[in-house]
Amino acid sequence: MKVLITGVTGQDGAILANTMHEQGYRVFGGFRRGAQNSWRMRELALTHSLNFVNYDATDTSTIDYLISTHKFDYVYHFAGSSFTVDSLNFPQNTLLTNINGSVSLLEAVRKYSPKTQVFLAGSSEVFKRQLGQKGVVANESAEKRPTNPYGVSHLALLSLADIYRSQHNLSITLGIFFNHESRFRSLQFVTRKISHGFAEIKLSGAEPLVLGNFSAVRDWGCAFEFMRAVKELTEKKISSDVVVATGAQSTVRDLIRTSAITAGFDPIFILEGEVELCVDNISGRLLALSDQRFYREGDLAPLVGDASRLEKCIGWRPSRSIDSIMEEMTIQDLKRVEKEKF
Ligand code: GDP
Repeated sequence: MKVLITGVTGQDGAILANTMHEQGYRVFGGFRRGAQNSWRMRELALTHSLNFVNYDATDTSTIDYLISTHKFDYVYHFAGSSFTVDSLNFPQNTLLTNINGSVSLLEAVRKYSPKTQVFLAGSSEVFKRQLGQKGVVANESAEKRPTNPYGVSHLALLSLADIYRSQHNLSITLGIFFNHESRFRSLQFVTRKISHGFAEIKLSGAEPLVLGNFSAVRDWGCAFEFMRAVKELTEKKISSDVVVATGAQSTVRDLIRTSAITAGFDPIFILEGEVELCVDNISGRLLALSDQRFYREGDLAPLVGDASRLEKCIGWRPSRSIDSIMEEMTIQDLKRVEKEKF
């Protein structure tokens, strides 16, 4: 079985590539020039195990060449911009990479390899968020109303997948992902910002973490479990949109608490005017504080995913809580920081 994973150096691409390589697939990893030696590839010892191919989501001729030459059994498309806040400041880049990039891939598959099963990575940022005590539980047909260009690019992706399924007969699995975390998360995301930040405070005496809204709510799941779902859905050739989510909600404060305890602190939370502080009750040391500059629209509008279609398709259920993922991420970052010191 020959597989192409675009965006292989990102969290999801790296995890999936590792699993598929271990299981004996011939994995081609699409990466942007110079990135194959990235830290994730090194930690997973994949630097010399994959067939790395240069993949720029906006370079149609290279994509055409790659698809027509290899006619992959499966293509998993993760290449694209994944930062919601960046997309507010640099919308053209997000729209170009995510929309045109996906169309370039779909066009190449349509023209040169229509039997290839395609997986597209979608996002819960497409859904309408609503302030409300219980929040919105979103399944595939929930109302869509993105609030940033990243979400707009993913709304376009849903429509494009429909068009290529119905008009061009392609078989496309589109996973509508809620947040999913692991020790391979980038530092820009709040989970890893916290786990890495507390490891540095613990071991290197770093400054307190400056975060956004401690009360922000999300449905956070485990990236390894999500990638298992992605692989099974795609191999079963499920040609539809499928929500991948845990259905449970937590706050950023919950993540801070778990990570701080794992790093050996005794966290307490104190409100000082509009600023929330997290302090170590043992030493009195300030560990983290909130800063309104990082607050986002929709932070307090709970949105959780309803993954019942996923369960029906492949019997998938989440088994890990965000607490246990934060614990693992913090332990891993303590080890990484310890290693960097020597
Ligand atoms: P996203 O949902 O894909 O944008 O994932 P993030 O990890 O970036 O953000 C998850 C939630 O954490 C959002 O509601 C953010 O507003 C909230 N948050 C609170 N503080 C921070 C912070 O310091 N950094 C980030 N990235 N998010 C934060």
